[in-house]
Amino acid sequence: LRKPLVAGNWKMNGNRSLVQDFCKSLAGSEQVDIVVCPPCGYLSYFDQASFALGAQDVSHLNNGAHTGDHSVEMIKELGCRYVIVGHSERREDHQESSELVAEKALAVLTGGLTPIVCVGEPLDIREDNKEQEFIGKQLTALFDKIPAELLSQCVIAYEPIWAIGTGKTASPEQAQEVHKFIRDELAKVGSSVAEKVRILYGGSVKPSNASELFNQPDVDGGLIGGASLTTEDFTAICQSAN
Ligand code: 13P
Repeated sequence: LRKPLVAGNWKMNGNRSLVQDFCKSLAGSEQVDIVVCPPCGYLSYFDQASFALGAQDVSHLNNGAHTGDHSVEMIKELGCRYVIVGHSERREDHQESSELVAEKALAVLTGGLTPIVCVGEPLDIREDNKEQEFIGKQLTALFDKIPAELLSQCVIAYEPIWAIGTGKTASPEQAQEVHKFIRDELAKVGSSVAEKVRILYGGSVKPSNASELFNQPDVDGGLIGGASLTTEDFTAICQSAN
């Protein structure tokens, strides 16, 4: 009932020739929502792409004196339908709090776009078996700010920080356990919210491990970093979500 979604997060990688590769070789799909999130400056070079575009971040503020930032209005004009908010790299590099992330998600929803809200625990929290408590707090900040009818339009990405860029993927069972926890938390807001929200897994997803992750009942697709930088790997991962 939930359509799978696979999003590629290029992070601070890529160039115009990679954009051309993707426009030429990556095909959209009826069965899977496919999203590519390049650095903002490259967005306008994606013409006639048959897949959707997303930004990697956005300001929670409207147009105004905010040097270096992009508003939802601008991201929309650049052709994006999705925006990643609260990636762990932004939480760390730019000290983004869960409250700020929730404000960004609200701005994205209010502008009519879909936020992909990232949550996930660092290694020491996982080693203490406290990941649910940690993620629960990240979710509470989101639920406190977003009304239920808008919450149901969010996408949530579970990205355990220890699995990002490390080659150490969460096992399908570990992913499913957290995804189920997230869905149960959503169900406390409303059962239809829990049914609608797509929950993506991110962290060292590769063509070789994508299917078994995506086959878990509460894993609705993936948020892909390194393996979203070649059309071959990314296409293979998108096909695994079918
Ligand atoms: P990797 O796929 O490179 O581990 O990155 C995951 C990620 O952070 C996607 O947002």
